[in-house]
Amino acid sequence: MPKPKIGIYWCASCGGCEETVVDLAEDILGVVEAVDIVLWPVAMDFKYSDVKAMPDKSLYAVLLNGAIRSTEQEEMAHLLRRKAQYLIAYGSCAVTGGIPGLANQFPKDQLLKYVYEEAPSMVNENQVHPQTKFSENGREVYLPELWNVVRTLDQVVDVDFYIPGCPPTPNITKEALGALLSGKLPPKGSVLAPDKALCGECPRRDSKPTDVAFTEFKRPHEKLLDPETCFLTQGVVCMGPATRSGCGSQCPEGNMPCTGCFGPTSRVRDQGAKILSSLCANVQAQDEAGIQETLQGIPDPVGTFYRYGLANSILRRRVDLPLAGSAGKGNGNGNH
Ligand code: SF4
Repeated sequence: MPKPKIGIYWCASCGGCEETVVDLAEDILGVVEAVDIVLWPVAMDFKYSDVKAMPDKSLYAVLLNGAIRSTEQEEMAHLLRRKAQYLIAYGSCAVTGGIPGLANQFPKDQLLKYVYEEAPSMVNENQVHPQTKFSENGREVYLPELWNVVRTLDQVVDVDFYIPGCPPTPNITKEALGALLSGKLPPKGSVLAPDKALCGECPRRDSKPTDVAFTEFKRPHEKLLDPETCFLTQGVVCMGPATRSGCGSQCPEGNMPCTGCFGPTSRVRDQGAKILSSLCANVQAQDEAGIQETLQGIPDPVGTFYRYGLANSILRRRVDLPLAGSAGKGNGNGNH
């Protein structure tokens, strides 16, 4: 009997999710025994035409990691949706936008100007930016166009299952693959990780405060952290109460607070808002000046509370309205 075919593909991502597949270590032999990996551009050479030539639904499953932020990624997401019976958003960037989603705080033009002109490491006297079309000697070369907005995979195509994490751990990857191959699948749209908050599995949970009044917040590098006490007790923001478990508490075990990469549980619509409301309700100061002073310990609220989930949040993106008198000129903030 032929083995099921699977594909692994990346869009706007760092490659960490691909590392997890390699981190399956000897377990990858079991995976290779059970399936044929027929698409994995990081590890094998594939061309767009190879994928296009595959019959629709001929791939049993595709694990797609990375957010969607260019015309090429949009095209590949649609193509792989057609080719796969099960399309799985694999890793934070595909599930909730991930780190690339933080770019939704800025218009595309501002990002490109910074990267190609203003970044301290950039030398670009002619202020050249990437072009989507280039012609030389009668030949034309095209580059994908960058979108103005970073999207999660399910904001572009229909997704069957989600595997969270930055990156997902080898364990939940193995369990998810096992569920896929055994056909014992939860309802469509499920997140293939426990639906409980991280605090429930954290070794520091017994010292988590039930009644706390924050007088200050410290970032992890500003304090000598006790290796056993809950970070919130130590005045350090930990995303554990608003974050799905399943990672094995690796960050708290390593004396670093949770930064939220597994995303929210099914009962939380907006992970950032959830932790923000919980922390702010427990600030001791009652007056405006005192509150501001306490919150100065969190200099980057978006990067702290929405590090992996801005593109999937209620806020989702910054929208710059046209300035008075510039109506009709556009502000470069369209979706594409
Ligand atoms: Fe652990 Fe963080 Fe939850 Fe405290 S808040 S119990 S450190 S996950």
